[in-house]
Amino acid sequence: MSQCLFCQIINGELNATIVYQDEHVVAFNDINPQAPTHVLVVPRRHIASLNDLTDEDDQLIGELVRRSAAIATSRGIANGGFRTVFNTNRDAGQTVFHIHLHLIGGRGMHWPPG
Ligand code: AMP
Ligand code: ZN
Repeated sequence: MSQCLFCQIINGELNATIVYQDEHVVAFNDINPQAPTHVLVVPRRHIASLNDLTDEDDQLIGELVRRSAAIATSRGIANGGFRTVFNTNRDAGQTVFHIHLHLIGGRGMHWPPG
């Protein structure tokens, strides 16, 4: 999707600090970080939200989740803890409609979230 912000980052049409990429997954720093580590882990393939997933995407979502844990480990924050969030649609505050897993860590956090 050419007008999608994250597709543009994935295609190299828009700058971002890429921290990991492979055949299926790209991870880059959030432009407005909410913690010392705030990375967005996204599939290369455009999928608008969790509401659009099918059975065929199970492996891909597993890769996103496992990659977020691997990045946390590489940053030395896995043992201390980190948060992973998919925001979906209006009530959760989703603003970019290309699935992205927020990996947030490097500071203490509260629960429940706002
Ligand atoms: P969400 O509200 O869950 O849809 O999250 C969208 C996230 O994308 C926000 O945390 C934004 O700060 C982040 N974001 C928006 N534009 C960019 C960009 N050009 N590069 C990196 N992150 C971005
Ligand atoms: Zn997209």
